[in-house]
Parts: sequence; C-alpha cells; structure tokens
Amino acid sequence: MNNISDFLVIGSGAAGLSYALKVAQHGKVTLITKSTLEESNTQYAQGGIAAVTNNADSFEKHVADTLLCGAGICNEDVVRMVVKEAPAQIQQLIDWGAQFDKSADGSFDLAREGGHSEHRILHNKDSSGAEIERALTAAVRAHQNIEIREHCFAIDLITQHHLGQMVRRYHTNIDCYGAYVVDLKTNKVETFLSKNTVVATGGIGNVYHTTTNPPVATGDGIAMVYRAKGVVENMAYVQFHPTALYIGNERPSFLITEAMRGFGGILRTQDGNELMNKYDPRGSLAPRDVVARAIDNEMKLRGDDFVYLDVTHKSASEIEKHFPMIYQKCISLGIDITKQMIPVAPATHFICGGIRVNPNGQSSIAHLYAIGEASCTGLHGANRLASNSLLEAVVYAHKAAQDTLHNLRRVSIRTDIPDWDYEGTSYPEEMVLITQNYKEVQQIMSYYVGIVRSNLRLARAFNRLGIIYKETEALYRRSTLTQSLCELRNLIQIGYLIIKEAMALRESRGLHYSIDFPPK
Ligand SMILES: Cc1cc2nc3c(=O)[nH]c(=O)nc-3n(C[C@H](O)[C@H](O)[C@H](O)COP(=O)(O)OP(=O)(O)OC[C@H]3O[C@@H](n4cnc5c(N)ncnc54)[C@H](O)[C@@H]3O)c2cc1C
Repeated sequence: MNNISDFLVIGSGAAGLSYALKVAQHGKVTLITKSTLEESNTQYAQGGIAAVTNNADSFEKHVADTLLCGAGICNEDVVRMVVKEAPAQIQQLIDWGAQFDKSADGSFDLAREGGHSEHRILHNKDSSGAEIERALTAAVRAHQNIEIREHCFAIDLITQHHLGQMVRRYHTNIDCYGAYVVDLKTNKVETFLSKNTVVATGGIGNVYHTTTNPPVATGDGIAMVYRAKGVVENMAYVQFHPTALYIGNERPSFLITEAMRGFGGILRTQDGNELMNKYDPRGSLAPRDVVARAIDNEMKLRGDDFVYLDVTHKSASEIEKHFPMIYQKCISLGIDITKQMIPVAPATHFICGGIRVNPNGQSSIAHLYAIGEASCTGLHGANRLASNSLLEAVVYAHKAAQDTLHNLRRVSIRTDIPDWDYEGTSYPEEMVLITQNYKEVQQIMSYYVGIVRSNLRLARAFNRLGIIYKETEALYRRSTLTQSLCELRNLIQIGYLIIKEAMALRESRGLHYSIDFPPK
C-alpha cells in the first residue's frame, strides 16, 4: 500500500521539524526518521545559534565574519539572505517554545565563539540543540496534520529511473515522486509518494572513526540524491572539531564546546605548555580549522593521543553555571574541570558540502528539496563559522516551505510507481561482512583523508575504497535489506565523494589542507 502526502519530510532535526511545522496547516505532512524523533545532530548541539540581536552588532559584521571564515567561496548573496533572515527565524523558534538564556536586564545572554567579531550566539546553557529539539518535537507531536513515522529508514528516492527511464546528472528533467522507506520494525519496504520531498537527513560524521555526530549521521540523504543523479558539491570541506573529550573509544565523542575557549579556556600540551601561541596570534581563540591542525600536528610530533583544555584558572562557580552539562559529564568520568585539565582531541564534526540547492532549498531534481546539514547552500563556503549551521537549518526550512507552498497547487502525485523490487535479495549475510567493511571505511577516511591530506594518501584511500565498494555492491544485490547494509553503502558513497573532490583540488583552502599544495 502506498503512503500519500503533500509533503514528505525525511529527517527530524532542526531542519526537518521546522519545515514540517511551517507547511502543516496547508496539507498532509509525513515525517519519517530512522531512529526516535529526537535523535539527530541537532540534539547534541551545545554552543547555540548565531544571529544579530543587539545594537552593538550589525548584519554587516555577521556577513563579514561568515565570508572571512568561508575562505573565498561562500555565496555572498546567500550569506546576506541568511544573516538578515536570522532574527525572524529565531523569533519563530521562540514562538514554538524554545527558550534562550537571558541576562538580568532581559536581553539575550549572548556568547561569543571563534571567528565571531561580536557576542551573537543565543544559547540555552550548554544544551542549546536539545532545547531547540525539545520545543520542535513537542510542537510536531501536537500537530494533527503531521504523521510521524519513527524507526523508518529512507533507502532511495523515486524518480523516472524507477519507471524504466534513463536519468542523467546535470540534466534538468529529473523529477522526484517520493521515496522507498523500510519500516525497521516490520522490515517491509513501503512506497511513500508525495508532491514534495524534503531531504533533511543531516551530516556524515560516521564516515570517520572519531566523530561528535551520533550514529544516525551516515550521510544517507546526500548518498540518495547522488544515486538519483542529483548534484552534490563541496564535499572536500569536512570540519573537524578541535576539542572533543578524549576518553578512549567512546562513540560519539562528547563535544567540549568552542564556547569554552571563548570563556577563556587555554589549550596545553600534555607537559602543561601553552599550545596555540606558536601557531596563531589569536592563541586558543583561533578558528577551528587552525586549532584542529595545530593540535593534530602537536599530537603527531609528540606521539600523544590528546592535549588538554584548561579552565582551572576560571571561577569554579562560573564554570558550573555556564557549562553544567560538560561539568557533569566530566565529573561522571572522575574529572573535576574546575581543578583538573580536560583531555581533548579533534573529531569529525560537520560537512560544509552536500546536496546543491538554490536559495529556496530546491535541489537539481524537481520537487526535491534539501535543507540543513545535508544541503550545500553556499553559506559556509570552505569553512563553517561556529553556530551558523542551526541558523542555516531553520532559515532554509523557512525558504523551502515558502517555495513548496507557492507551487503546491501546480504539483500532482504520480501513482504509477512500482513497489520495491525484492527479487534476488533473499540471502541474509553474516553481520561481520558489514561491520568489518564499516570499520575499514572509517579507518581509510581517518588515516588518509583527515585534517591534513596529500596526493599519495588520497590516491591510496581512493583505491582501497574502490575494493570495498565492489564487495558491498555485490552484497547489496544479493542480501536481504538491513539498515546497517544501507548505511555502509551510503558511507562508501560519501567517502568516494569526499576523496574525489579533494583529489580535484589543486590548493589548500579552508578545511581542505594538502601538504602538496600548501597555503600561499
Ligand atoms: C555535538 C555537536 C555540537 C554542535 N553544536 C552546534 C552549535 O552549537 N551550533 C550550531 O549551529 N551547530 C552545531 N552543530 C551542528 C548542528 O547541530 C547541525 O548541523 C544541525 O543540527 C543539523 O540539523 P539538521 O536538521 O540538518 O540534521 P540533524 O539534526 O542531524 O537531523 C537529521 C535527521 O535525519 C534522520 N535521518 C538520517 N538519515 C535518515 C534516513 N535514511 N531515513 C530517515 N531518517 C534519516 C536522523 O535520524 C535525524 O533525525 C553541532 C553538531 C554536533 C554533532
């Protein structure tokens, strides 16, 4: 049986949930998500959301900071649009119930993060994402036009390809009719048809071994769109957060927010010496990519697995007040951060690239939108400014909602779509074939396509990944469908896109740093 709706939303982070709420009074929304409604990158965001909300700041300053961070390849029109739209979309979040910390005088208690020239980060203590997700999920659950399907995994987008027609990348005539989705409780693949399909599937962190992203971040949406012959770009620009808590193999890595360096935290090598001064005049407040490379270099030089972030010189009560979640997390591990330094190491955090979209969030495929981290809007360029990603998610949810509503009457639902073809896929594989390849992909990406790259490392990664690709495609064709097999396939696709684009770059820029093309 087909599921039919006006709007099919895949993903329940800040982007998918806000979009669903914006369109719900105009038609039926089906919201599918592969885990629980809350599980998402959004849920783990700590620092907050950037917006100009006071007179000391200005749109021009926020634009300039974003452009500078983006290293020359941001789309300036998009940056201006997002920055100007920010206050209205923050107000929308507040209207939906999100709360941001305020000072005694009633104004927002704004934080400052690396790369920002002003205090402009709205936050809720150090659990800003969880607060946004709490408010949005509550509003979505209360809306009668939104059908929520948790534990449903989108496998592939439906286009003319499924009607036996040829589709080609960069051709403008590809049309999206919905998606094939496996209900993980029944293991049945269902056909979801819709006038508009919105990919809001978030990031790709799990393509690397160490990441701050939860296990759901496997780049599914980007891989699906690429398979459907949509255009994907800027994938070489992967952001590594410099300060994830180092406690061996914990996954995901717990983030120590950048706001802690903004608060006065100092990075030190294991012998206690200040780390950043010899790398950048801004010291520990240098931008993320600079700090991540410096830490990576010191760790490699010294053979250390981690460095320290030190806030012991700050007031204990202020630490507990501003960073209650981090304080409690560290206490649970026996580290009192008011007296002891925090062991940290870089971890994969964010992808600047993704599904190419226009200023309304529309992809290169008709009736297919991409919003949030899965998309490439032109806002981040080669490097993301801290706290601009939640902002991008809510602004583009708004833009995509406006565009889909504008066109809604002109779109009809195509019903002649074949059911999912199970033929030849009845053989349950040993899990080890999947899990071992999953680990190998992560190792290849971490060792050869990490913070510092070279032609040789990229070529080696490309060849190794090619072998795993062939094995996995053969496995996919003959095996019964499982979530882990689909995710493995998607991660290989993401790895391929990152490597291919990195190999094509003949320069170091933003987050892509190659020793063969050092910065001029
Ligand atoms: C630890 C951490 C801290 C961060 N801190 C900040 C911060 O302070 N400020 C900031 O601006 N940004 C921050 N970021 C980045 C920011 O959180 C994300 O970029 C943003 O939340 C992305 O929102 P989204 O809605 O696009 O995706 P997500 O919030 O990741 O949501 C994606 C959704 O898609 C679902 N999904 C994925 N694949 C499928 C599939 N195949 N089928 C069905 N459902 C699927 C997932 O389950 C999830 O519900 C942080 C990220 C992390 C990990």
